[in-house]
Amino acid sequence: MGKVTGFLEIDRQTAKYQPASDRIRHFREFTLPMSDAEVGKQAARCMDCGIPYCHGPTGCPVHNQIPDWNDLVYAGDWETAVRNLHSTNNFPEFTGRICPAPCEEACTLNLEDSPVAIKTVEQALADKAYKLGLVVPQPATTQSGKRVAVIGSGPAGLAAAQQLGRAGHRVDVFERESKPGGLLRYGIPDFKMEKHWIDKRVEQISGEGVTFHCGVEIGRDRMLADLQAEYDAIVYCGGAERPRDAGIPNHGLSGIHDAMPYLVQQNRRVGGEPVQSRGWAAGEIWAGAKHVVVVGGGDTASDCVGTAFRQGAVKVTQLDIRPQPPKTENKLEVWPYWATKMRTSSSQAEGAVREFQVATLEFVGEDGVLTGVKCAEVDERRKPIAGTEFVIKADLAFIAIGFAGPFETGLLAEAGEALSKKADSRGNVAVAADDTSYRTSMDKLYVAGDVRRGQSLVVWAIREGRQAARAVDLELMGTTTLPR
Ligand SMILES: Cc1cc2nc3c(=O)[nH]c(=O)nc-3n(C[C@H](O)[C@H](O)[C@H](O)COP(=O)(O)OP(=O)(O)OC[C@H]3O[C@@H](n4cnc5c(N)ncnc54)[C@H](O)[C@@H]3O)c2cc1C
Ligand code: SF4
Repeated sequence: MGKVTGFLEIDRQTAKYQPASDRIRHFREFTLPMSDAEVGKQAARCMDCGIPYCHGPTGCPVHNQIPDWNDLVYAGDWETAVRNLHSTNNFPEFTGRICPAPCEEACTLNLEDSPVAIKTVEQALADKAYKLGLVVPQPATTQSGKRVAVIGSGPAGLAAAQQLGRAGHRVDVFERESKPGGLLRYGIPDFKMEKHWIDKRVEQISGEGVTFHCGVEIGRDRMLADLQAEYDAIVYCGGAERPRDAGIPNHGLSGIHDAMPYLVQQNRRVGGEPVQSRGWAAGEIWAGAKHVVVVGGGDTASDCVGTAFRQGAVKVTQLDIRPQPPKTENKLEVWPYWATKMRTSSSQAEGAVREFQVATLEFVGEDGVLTGVKCAEVDERRKPIAGTEFVIKADLAFIAIGFAGPFETGLLAEAGEALSKKADSRGNVAVAADDTSYRTSMDKLYVAGDVRRGQSLVVWAIREGRQAARAVDLELMGTTTLPR
């Protein structure tokens, strides 16, 4: 259980960052690794609670066995800890970097505002796995003779492909982009997670017998009907990246963009790919020397903020219609659930001006070019308060108010009415039977990740990919040893 008195003796420490003035000069990761000794001390704080909420239903979605690997790290047995971590999470180097860590919210020590630094320990363990040479292909020892197609190579598709390959099926992954990774590669900026981590995993998964076919969109370059004829099962992990429509007047002015084309462009630039890409019709977007306004208060908005600073924006203002949350939550009301409280992302901490409880009334421009964003304060019903209007100078504005579901093109257009959707009108795909079947209304077609849940988290996508793989294996073989 870590050290019996660890939580009394040792203060919580998380990985430190490079100073903002240094890290905005580059697009690389900026977390400073902790020494093994310090990671061991942080793991020692774990109390091995009778009910470890951190890995229970309110904590880690993949049910990482957090108290177990904390104990192993404290004891210095990194190798067994790495094995334990990989038994529940295919890609801990992703989640160790970019998971918002609901586990830490659910940690009992969070009642005292000093949860175990679970995410920091996870990242250290994941990176140690590479240093120790433990991330190697683990091919299946026997082949099932079954063929499975996975559509989409985001975290859900990668997890599904790896699990199915290890179960002995012949797996082909189809990805419409030029490289695998989904939003991990083209949405999430490099400064949060460098892309060589995806390349290393793709190398491992390929070594396990999975074949990646990039630049192939199912429903356009190859049809779903062909796959249904050729494969025993198909797992659709297509994501949900259709932006919500903000409906702000004058959004046709030049200088206004949805967040995704902007983020995709910068990721392609860093990755040495041509900046313009499939589907995103916009010229090159660059924030250098500009006044930037980001509409929206979530993670995608934060990523726009951090990217704009790195491109040399003069000023970045972020608008959030919600009221400023309290500094701390009432633990007895919300613990062990995720709390609404004032959180400052590393990007916001780089100098963003944050405006809360404001609505964006309209974009303002001259000769078709954006010059400002007209706002007003809102009341508790989010209605603009007359007389509080003000204009923020802007040469560039990004709309980052969330995602409405998948684009109704490609596979979804081909499937049409045959593929049942959820009743919430967002266009996310519904499962036919109970939630654990992952089966859709179409023959041989399973679904996992954001395209089923709606835009969510990487750790949820990994969980869905793992569980969908199990459902497929069970259906094809009548029995399965893949974990839930
Ligand atoms: C800007 C941004 C920042 C985020 N930051 C975080 C974060 O910090 N932490 C976190 O946990 N989560 C974050 N998320 C959410 C997270 O990235 C997603 O929840 C996760 O990537 C979903 O995984 P997925 O595999 O379901 O879908 P995706 O990652 O969207 O992958 C879907 C893939 O399917 C491919 N595809 C779709 N249709 C077809 C087709 N017909 N044929 C072939 N290929 C197809 C797409 O090209 C794509 O590669 C962020 C999301 C965004 C947009
Ligand atoms: S994947 Fe996320 S929730 Fe699970 S242990 Fe890691 S940081 Fe915590």
